[in-house]
Order: sequence, then structure tokens, then C-alpha cells
Amino acid sequence: MKEITTKLLVIGGGPGGYVAAIRAGQLGIPTVLVEGESLGGTCLNIGCIPSKALIHAAHEFERARHQAHGSPLGIRVQEPSIDIAQTVRWKDGIVKRLSGGVGALLRKAGVQVLKGWAHIDDGKTVTVRPAEGEAVRVRCEHLLLATGSEPVELPMLSFGGAVVSSTGALAPESLPRRLVVVGAGYIGLELGMAYRKLGVEVAVVEAAERVLPGYDEELTQPVLDALEKSGVVLHLGCSVQGYDAQHGVRVRSARADEFALPADRVLVAVGRKPRTTGFGLESLQLDMAGRYVAVDAQCRTSMRNVWAIGDITGDPMLAHRAMAQGEVVAEVIAGQNRRFEPMAIPAVCFTDPEVVVVGRTPGEARAAGLDCIDAAFPFAANGRAMTLEATGGFVRVVARRDNHLILGWQAVGQGVAELAAAFTQSIEMGARLEDVAGTIHAHPTLGEAVQEAALRALGHAIHI
Ligand code: FAD
Ligand code: NAD
Repeated sequence: MKEITTKLLVIGGGPGGYVAAIRAGQLGIPTVLVEGESLGGTCLNIGCIPSKALIHAAHEFERARHQAHGSPLGIRVQEPSIDIAQTVRWKDGIVKRLSGGVGALLRKAGVQVLKGWAHIDDGKTVTVRPAEGEAVRVRCEHLLLATGSEPVELPMLSFGGAVVSSTGALAPESLPRRLVVVGAGYIGLELGMAYRKLGVEVAVVEAAERVLPGYDEELTQPVLDALEKSGVVLHLGCSVQGYDAQHGVRVRSARADEFALPADRVLVAVGRKPRTTGFGLESLQLDMAGRYVAVDAQCRTSMRNVWAIGDITGDPMLAHRAMAQGEVVAEVIAGQNRRFEPMAIPAVCFTDPEVVVVGRTPGEARAAGLDCIDAAFPFAANGRAMTLEATGGFVRVVARRDNHLILGWQAVGQGVAELAAAFTQSIEMGARLEDVAGTIHAHPTLGEAVQEAALRALGHAIHI
């Protein structure tokens, strides 16, 4: 068997693994990256990017239909139609360009990429089996685990045929007439809303009593309103019992007898689980934190020189967390004094309206025993929002009462995803309400609602 020796071996070419490898290459660390599927991992190939492409296409289609039905803006268009096969080709084109771009960046950083599945022999030896050709044994000084996650499968709704995970939902050959979505979390609502905008009848079955149960109710209310307005039918506090093509999805709730929801496709989106089995990881007997690999603030596992980042290390399972951890590991291996201790990790749900959460919510701050003030500014009072027909939602700030240190930002509304950068920077830089209130925000922009929320928390908002 061919053998390679390197200083750093990265298993997994997702946002965690490829960023770690690029940074390591920049720092002059001899690095090999192994990827079994496509560079870019879940995020780029079957996650963040394709989902946002489909969401955008669905949004544009819905806008066109909206304009066709009596536009207040004076736009006159004929009833539009959608060629979903072309939509999927367009989405695939973006994915291909980005995945190729990751390959180019890795080459530029001097990283050697091995295509194939890695099997861990021990903490310093990995065998890589390519789809074709000879296996390669890689010996390394440092082993970085970045194998990501995969969808959770429900035993009574196994994937296959009409029952799909997000991967299938992102590459439809045709649109179903009736889609049942199981799980009203990130994926269920982002994709459920997109399918509804594409003209599909959508019903959502959620075990909890609310949608997006991870977010507070004030924040999710505008999303709930939009779901209801768009005709998505919600079945909250329900569990699924099974599916057959004739009857559809059988559902049980505490309030009603078992009932069936007709469906010609079922999207199961009930969470993701870390990829920790099937490639020899168990043999290392690493300390685990539940089902995740346990790591310290430098992403070290319990075995010396074995590191782990991204979804296999737990929540939040977000691409930008994986990337930030990847940079930290590369820099620590290069001898720098780095730790992964962010003040806040932004979370954005790309529903319509979008939801952004950075830092602590008022409830979380109170639960932590902090005496805080919070204030919200509605987009209904923002000029830019009016010109965008996007007056639903608000920006909310949470700050300590004593010194006005900002602890958290939340927003819900059209386009608020782009405010996440300002929110996170202000918290990471230790800004106080006065810092944001005293910063000139360009007019007319949605960002003015950020300044106004800070002003309102100080008791002197101008535009409300
Ligand atoms: P992954 O991206 O999962 O990459 C792991 C890689 O390792 C994979 O390419 C896999 O093939 C490879 N691999 C695994 N085992 C082996 C092995 N033994 N040998 C070789 N290769 C191996 N996050 C966001 O921040 N924003 C979003 O908008 C967002 N949208 C999402 C939408 C969907 C539909 C999904 C499913 C996820 C979304 N996420 C989003 C989550 C995001 O995709 C993940 O948090 C992120 O991809 C995790 O990165 P990672 O590097 O840890 O793992
Ligand atoms: P999720 O954890 O966001 O939501 C899962 C939902 O399914 C929850 O509301 C849960 O109560 C519900 N549920 C669980 N079991 C159920 C059952 N048996 N029947 C009915 N409902 C059930 O998980 P997801 O939507 O699968 O997404 C997985 C992860 O991917 C997310 O947690 C997030 O980390 C990542 N993601 C992020 C984004 C983003 O950042 N915009 C987008 C998509 C995915």
C-alpha cells in the first residue's frame, strides 16, 4: 500500500475541515485533507448553499405570482410558471462553482487532497480508500476529525421512495402536489416555506407545541403568521406513526384520534446526528459529550494531537461555527495561543420573514440572573422597510441595566439575516447601548432599526 507522511491530516472537507486545511496550509503546516464525497461538505453540496438557492428561486417565483395578481406597484405580468428541472440545474451550477473554488483554494494553500473514505487505524494512522485505485496509508502527527453530521431517520418513516431527507428535498425531479414536512425546525420551515411558494400544498407535523421551538415566541410569531397566511397547515404537538402512498402520513395527537395527511412526498427534518461511526473512530475511545466528540476550548479531544471540530462536536451545528473552530485548530497547531471562546455565535433561520438570534434573549439573560433591559424597534416605523413592502417584524436588543453592555440582539423580518454581522460585532467588541445609538447608520436602511432599538433601550428613540 502507498504511504504518505504529513504533519496534519484532516478527515472531512466540509466548512470545518476545508477551512482548517487552508489555514494550516497558509501557516506552512504540511497538510493532507481526505474527503469521501465532494469538497464543501454538507453545507456547500446539500445544505446551506443549495437550500438558500432553492429558497431564493421560490421567493422570486412567488413575487412574480404576487405581481401577476394585481400589483400595487403597477407592475403587470402574465401568470408565471416554473421549470423546476431548470431551477435544480441553476442551483447545481452554483454548488459546482463553489466546490471547485474550495478545491482551488486548497491547492493555493498547498494542501494535498485525497478523494476517498478515511478509516482510522490509530490516532496517527489512517487508511484512505478511493472509489477506484489503490488505498493509501497516511501517517500524521496531528489528526483532525471534521466528519460532520447526517439526518436523523425516524424508524416508522425510513428514507426512500417518497420519504426524503433535506438532501432529496433539495434536488426534486418534479414538484409534489402535497408535501408533508415532519419537524418545524430550521430545515422543515425553510424548505416547507419554499415548497409552498413553489405552489405545493404543505402540511407540517411538529412534536412540540410551537414552530422553531428553539427560539422565543415573540420572535417566532411573525413566522407563524406568515405560515398561516401562506396556507401552510400546521399540526403542532403531534407525532407521526407511518406513511403509505394510499393514506398518506398517519399522525397522532393528544387532542384528536389518529388521522391521516395525504401526501405524495414526505420531508423528514427532525434533526441531525454526528457522524462518529463506521470509520474506526470508536477504536480511539475518545471521551464523548453525549453522542458528540468532547472537545476543550482549543478543540482538543481526550487523545493527544487528535482534534475535532464542526457538527461532530455538537450544537450549534452551524457552518460558521465549524469554520471558526477550524481556524483555531490550525493556528494552535502552528503554535499560536488561540482558543474557541466566542462571545456569541449568530444563528439565522432563512424563513420568510428571516429570524436572527445573536447572544442572549431577554428570557435567557433573566434566567442567568442578569438584571437587564430590552427594547424593540418595529420595521413598521422604518422607511426602508416600507419601500421594500417589508414592514413586519422588529429588531430587539438586550443589555445589562447597570452598564448598558449589550448581551444580545434578535430580529425578525425580511432581509434581517444581513444584520447578523453588525449584531455579532457589537457583542464581540463589548459595545454598550450608547456605542450603537451614537453610530451614524445610513438612511434609508433596515439597519436604522438597530440604532433605534438601542436608542429606545436608552429611553429616547426618535422615530417611535
Ligand atoms: P460537514 O459539512 O457535514 O462535512 C463533513 C464532510 O466529511 C462531508 O463532506 C463528508 O463526506 C466527509 N466525511 C465524513 N466521513 C468521512 C470519512 N470517513 N472519510 C472521508 N470523508 C468523510 N448551517 C449554517 O450555518 N447556515 C445555514 O444556512 C445552514 N443551512 C443548512 C441547510 C441544510 C439543508 C442542512 C442539512 C444543513 C444546514 N446547515 C447550515 C448546517 C451546516 O451544513 C453544517 O453545520 C456544516 O456543514 C457542518 O460542517 P462540518 O465541516 O462539521 O461537516
Ligand atoms: P432542528 O433541530 O432545527 O428541528 C427539528 C424539529 O423537529 C424540532 O422542532 C423538533 O421538535 C422536531 N421533531 C423532532 N422529532 C420529531 C418527531 N418525531 N416528530 C415531529 N417533530 C419532531 O433540526 P433540522 O431542521 O433537521 O436541522 C438540523 C440542523 O441543521 C439544525 O439544528 C441546524 O443546526 C442546521 N441547519 C441550520 C440552518 C440555518 O442555519 N439556517 C438551516 C438548516 C439546518
